[in-house]
Amino acid sequence: MIVAVALFVASLTLFKSASSRAPAATPTPANTRPDILFVTIDTLRADAVGAYGQQGNPTPWIDRLAAAGVRFTHADAQTPLTLPSHATLLSGRYPFAHGVRDNAGFRFPADVDTLATLLRSRGYRTGAFVSAFPLDARFGLARGFDVYDDRLSESPRPAFLEQERAGAATVARARAWLDAPHDRPTFCWVHLYEPHFPYTPPEPYASRFADNAYEGEVAAADAALAPLLQPIVENGATTRPIVVLTADHGESLGEHGESTHGIFAYEATLHVPLVVYAPGRLDPGVRDDVIRQIDVAPTILDLAGVPLPQEIDGRSARTPHTDTPTSYFEALSGALNRGWAPLRGVRRGTLKFIELPIPELYDLAADPGERRNLAEARTADVAALRSLLQSFPTTPAARRAERADTASRLQALGYIGGAAAPRSHYTAADDPKQLIGIDRDLQNVVSAYTAGDTSRALSEARRIAEAHAAMPLAWLELAQLQRETGDLPSAIASFKRAHVLAPDNPQIASMLGASLTQHGDTREAVAILTPLTSSDDADVEVIRTLALASARAGTFDRAIALLERARTFDSADPQLLVDEGTVQLMANRREPARAAFQAALTRDPAFPRAHSSLAAMALDDGRTADAAAHWKEAAAGDPSEFGRIFALAVANANAGRAPQARAALEFFVQSAPPSSYAGQIAQARAWLDHSR
Ligand SMILES: [Zn+2]
Repeated sequence: MIVAVALFVASLTLFKSASSRAPAATPTPANTRPDILFVTIDTLRADAVGAYGQQGNPTPWIDRLAAAGVRFTHADAQTPLTLPSHATLLSGRYPFAHGVRDNAGFRFPADVDTLATLLRSRGYRTGAFVSAFPLDARFGLARGFDVYDDRLSESPRPAFLEQERAGAATVARARAWLDAPHDRPTFCWVHLYEPHFPYTPPEPYASRFADNAYEGEVAAADAALAPLLQPIVENGATTRPIVVLTADHGESLGEHGESTHGIFAYEATLHVPLVVYAPGRLDPGVRDDVIRQIDVAPTILDLAGVPLPQEIDGRSARTPHTDTPTSYFEALSGALNRGWAPLRGVRRGTLKFIELPIPELYDLAADPGERRNLAEARTADVAALRSLLQSFPTTPAARRAERADTASRLQALGYIGGAAAPRSHYTAADDPKQLIGIDRDLQNVVSAYTAGDTSRALSEARRIAEAHAAMPLAWLELAQLQRETGDLPSAIASFKRAHVLAPDNPQIASMLGASLTQHGDTREAVAILTPLTSSDDADVEVIRTLALASARAGTFDRAIALLERARTFDSADPQLLVDEGTVQLMANRREPARAAFQAALTRDPAFPRAHSSLAAMALDDGRTADAAAHWKEAAAGDPSEFGRIFALAVANANAGRAPQARAALEFFVQSAPPSSYAGQIAQARAWLDHSR
């Protein structure tokens, strides 16, 4: 009994936040497994961190952790992409070994161990808290985690951009999980997304870093970490967890013509910060030996006293190695998405070789900015490094089709540009160095849109589409902008251009179908989508879009049959049941509708759209207390549901149903919607006063 209580207090104390620190801080017995905090900051260049030389004190918390722990000056990523890099960080295996080569079209395999599966099998409780869609549980990294928190709807953003979760919100969820009573050692992975494009830092960082918005995002991410790092760096004597902080990749910021990351593999995106804090297990200091991303997981396991699995590619960096390791890297996004030449390479010591139609060799000691390509001058070095590269397997990237909705969400992050088949031969014209301009132009469109300059975004997107008229991605980007700005007829015309160029692409077809349906052209939508749904491996999103078009055309039973078929592909998706309920309501079949919405809640009890649909039905029936209870759940899960509640109130008021309108508006004003609804709140108050 006493032992149990002591354990309880100890485990509660280890990670406790400063404000609620238990008074009797119990030191961990030496033989107890350490708690482990693993922090990955997306898109964080090493040189953007104060401890790595950045001026202006942008990262005080990371710097304090680095001062108390070990700072690795030479940490290398294996890829410049979020999902592949995290797969490598968590597994200690190269991308060709775990098989995840890009953000879209790959799943982390079910039979490869990760830090989570290994530590859980050793008695750890395991939790992950991620901040962006590329790490959604669907991509396979959730295995081994007791909790995998990837809900992103807490910070709504414009529909054209993908949802990400603010670092402070992610950290708050992690903090709550860490502070919950537990009796096992803890492995907690926290992923923050702030530095990822677009750069829109919150205040006070927007003003403090007015001339460098990227650095402002870095500062915001650092500040968000305070609740996790403060109790550790300020209470180091009594809390002895292992903390490992790194980045999945860096950011080019215009170097070599690349705006963001993913196409090239220069040090701007491969050189990452790495701080390891492990008091009593690793002497603090600065280490200049090379550590690769594949070495991070084995180092963590070694520090925690867990034996390394044999198939791991990396090695523990607990003690420095005297030899110089070879670091393999690849950047296959351009090849997989655009048909450009695939990029692979190796780094050994200060020499770095990039294999492309126009090969590149750099001496990083003399030329850290990789400006002088030595490939033609130093042919012996090229031959040596090329043969080193050839010792790594050239496992082809086995890509699967993404569901259209997944592809759309990744594209909103700037990650996907439509599938491209691999070729056997590439020429200098396929070298990404020759093609990076298109990438930059498309990025500029998103920048203009994010900055509120819609007309410049539109005209630039149109210019790119006309200049690259055979590129489906260019038309898709233009169409999405046109749709987002309310120009549905132009959007339909642009979607059609993309569809003609890539008739089998499910993402383009479903967006065209949805736009046609929205415009009332349901017959054309049905005609375009039907042929794409005949095969056994039809896309769920295309089937769903066809179902909604059929419902709008009045063929309700066909719509229901299609949604039932979609559910055979993805039975866990509550949205498909909400769609079915909506179609039943359109057909005026209220009981089947209610049953479908309730079935959605059995899949996900918090699913906001199911709650708001049940609220609308309760309001119709005059059950205002039930309606309010469901609205509360809906708005808690997705603040944009407030907009739906207000629209429902307006519809009821216009239909002369004053009691229903009143119930909705009273809920609306009393439950304090976000400040972006200030205008609607004022209107609601005025209506309530007026109709009293
Ligand atoms: Zn990333």
